[in-house]
Amino acid sequence: MVQKVDSIWFDGKLVPWDEAQVHVLTHTLHYGCGVFEGIRAYRLADGGSAVFRLKEHIHRHFNSAKILEMQIPFSEEDICAAVIETLKANRMAEGYIRPLSFIGAGVMGVHPGNNPIQTIIATWPWGAYLGEDALAKGIRVKTSTFTRHHVNVMMTKAKTCGNYVNSVLAKREAIADGYDEALMLDTEGYVSEATGENIFIVRGGVIKTTPLTSVLDGLTRNSLITLARDLGYEVVEQRFTRDELYSADEAFFCGTAAEVTPIREVDRRAIGAGKAGEVGLHLQKEYFKVVKGENPAYAKWLDRYTL
Ligand code: PMP
Repeated sequence: MVQKVDSIWFDGKLVPWDEAQVHVLTHTLHYGCGVFEGIRAYRLADGGSAVFRLKEHIHRHFNSAKILEMQIPFSEEDICAAVIETLKANRMAEGYIRPLSFIGAGVMGVHPGNNPIQTIIATWPWGAYLGEDALAKGIRVKTSTFTRHHVNVMMTKAKTCGNYVNSVLAKREAIADGYDEALMLDTEGYVSEATGENIFIVRGGVIKTTPLTSVLDGLTRNSLITLARDLGYEVVEQRFTRDELYSADEAFFCGTAAEVTPIREVDRRAIGAGKAGEVGLHLQKEYFKVVKGENPAYAKWLDRYTL
């Protein structure tokens, strides 16, 4: 169960958690045409708090809406301010933030006409998405029988609600089969992304991640590329196949929720030594330093607030 907090921001004002409700004929509920974000706030080493890469997340949210031709009746600045307002109202020094813009009730049918575009911002406490053990020891992954979206069927750069039907199918299958997470291949058979994470592999000291073609432009992916290069690693964005992953020295997933999660096994094959890899753990450590304000070089990625 999501841990309930006091308030949810709903179309410009904070409303009590239990009153943040919509009509059953809400358009997005039927057709999946809505957009959302996943953002984290962290407690900082100096006692304050900060939202990690808030402006970039909200910018991606507006781009998602643009791709789906949804006009959000607020500015990006308004929504950034609303995120901070919601965290403060809920006295959350850390936690997860979920903005969602959706097409409200009005006409039915796939042409939404002038139905209102509504926005909510919910926050709740959320620890390690795949578990503390996953962060330390790595996870077991299954290549999904479900293919990731074709770039011209769904818009893969938009964080569209409906896109996640594919993720739910893949995740359920992986869990039912005894794995922790699903890895999806693109329509040409190359490695794409997981249900809510981008993927990296390490081979011969070189860090490789998929190009943006069929995957979400993840902000954790983007942060890790910058961080790794600044630490002196070579990073390439290049397509790779599942057998390249099987024979990689190490692999890891990344995402706002999953942070940096090592992969220790894929389809019954141990990755590298079959445990969390050295490079992945190094980047995980450096990533946590950055989000917790322990590396001043990346202070620009933090939107600080105090309760
Ligand atoms: N791919 C998918 C499908 C996702 O849902 C997410 C999570 N938003 C990511 C990648 C990682 O993106 P980010 O690092 O911005 O959270």
